[in-house]
Amino acid sequence: MQTLKSEAASAIDRLANAQNIVVVCHFDPDGDAIGSLLGLGLALRAMGKAVVLACDDPVPWNLTFLPGSDTVVQALPPGAFDLAVVVDSSDTRRVGRVGAEAMARGAPVINIDHHVTNTRFGQVNVVDPDAASASEIVYNLLRAMGHALDADTATCLLTGMVTDTRGFRTANVNQRVLRTAADLMDAGAPLATITQLALDRRSFSALAMMGRALDKVRFEDGVIWSAMDLDEIRALDTNGTGARPRNISSLLNAVDGASVAVFFAEKPDGAVDISMRAKPGFDLTALYDEGQALHQQGGGHPLASGAEVNAPLATVVPQVVDALKALVREQSQARETAADLSR
Ligand code: 5GP
Ligand code: MN
Repeated sequence: MQTLKSEAASAIDRLANAQNIVVVCHFDPDGDAIGSLLGLGLALRAMGKAVVLACDDPVPWNLTFLPGSDTVVQALPPGAFDLAVVVDSSDTRRVGRVGAEAMARGAPVINIDHHVTNTRFGQVNVVDPDAASASEIVYNLLRAMGHALDADTATCLLTGMVTDTRGFRTANVNQRVLRTAADLMDAGAPLATITQLALDRRSFSALAMMGRALDKVRFEDGVIWSAMDLDEIRALDTNGTGARPRNISSLLNAVDGASVAVFFAEKPDGAVDISMRAKPGFDLTALYDEGQALHQQGGGHPLASGAEVNAPLATVVPQVVDALKALVREQSQARETAADLSR
């Protein structure tokens, strides 16, 4: 197997030599998807390259302050590319329509990601599960290319770091992450402004949906969860997008005694979006193993994971809650056994 270092070297070589590049991130994009997309895109443009930035969904309103966000398209222009880059996407399902098309145009694919469940679908895979965000990997590649980051690029990359770590609070934040953030600040990225605009703002309807989700919360056997069907979401969502609010699962996971938290939201196409969080020491990615409840239906990190299941909400909720109760039981036992052995 290729090492991360040799994959990064190969990615740098291809990025430096390509002239006509398409970069895509996953649908329903979050701050790291948009931050890494724009950060890489702006830097490549500054190098004089022609760059198409694409995502199935528009840039969320709270991220439209980012420079270059008005250049993200939802459909690819015709023609050939000499390189395709996919950021922050654990598998080819997550890349959506534009991702599938970008990869079908025949150019080599560079897969830049930090999900431990990444399927390594690219010709080059710069996949580093130790990175706290995809934006951090983009930063490392640009620095290794000797690129002088401007304030706009730095702002996009720091936004990815801030949002994926919920303001540098997640378990994967270490000195290296903070040093990278400090370097981006040196390059002109305004940390407090980014935190306020990208992390600490929500729409009134998102707040109302949060209220409804909290009203319906359930808590059993270390698992805390809430679920909303599309009618409930639409009734409270005055923008009419049908989009569920982000980070309800993080809010639930703060509850003392909860080992894992999950929020289920019915999507306009009838599928169920699942957003999960866990307390340190648990590993949600076990759910994606062969024979497990969410095999090939999602991906993510040990403490923050997601999935999309094509089945009715009423069947998905009890199935996944049961699987999570079993996970909490098994992983708590494993931890106790390990503690016994070390005595
Ligand atoms: P979130 O709960 O913030 O939407 O997602 C948690 C993590 O799971 C993110 O890193 C996200 O990229 C990953 N993930 C992978 N597949 C899916 C999916 O199908 N749905 C969601 N919501 N997240 C997914
Ligand atoms: Mn990410």
